[in-house]
Amino acid sequence: MNSSKVFECQKCGVCCKGYGGIFPTDQEIEAIAGFLDATRDEFLSRYCEESGGRTMLRTAENGSCIFWDELCQIHPVKPRLCKTWPYLKAVLVDRNNLAVIQNACPGVSKDVTYEEFAAAVREFHSNDHAD
Ligand code: SF4
Ligand code: SF4
Repeated sequence: MNSSKVFECQKCGVCCKGYGGIFPTDQEIEAIAGFLDATRDEFLSRYCEESGGRTMLRTAENGSCIFWDELCQIHPVKPRLCKTWPYLKAVLVDRNNLAVIQNACPGVSKDVTYEEFAAAVREFHSNDHAD
């Protein structure tokens, strides 16, 4: 199974729904603020909130990430976790995580075997797409 059969994003936005969970690093904060032509402080006050002492992307009133609007509005500079999804290394640690990922992401084939998905995860990270 080639990688496009393993995963093809449906642009459904399901992975961008729900409260929080995206904690940008300092470097990512600088990159996103620059992309938005905002100062770091403007970016933090408009688009972020504190959660557990960490900076988290804000959730909009519609329950999705503040940057979701049909598509990710900061796609070129989105945080590493967003770039990595759904190729999470957690699946290499526990094969049961494949079912969790399949349930969370309609773009992951329901027919993919664990071995095929694990190979796609390894390939993704060997190419460092998220960097
Ligand atoms: S949940 Fe999966 S298919 Fe839907 S937008 Fe996110 S990555 Fe794409
Ligand atoms: S930054 Fe973009 S990809 Fe990440 S959760 Fe927000 S809208 Fe989705």
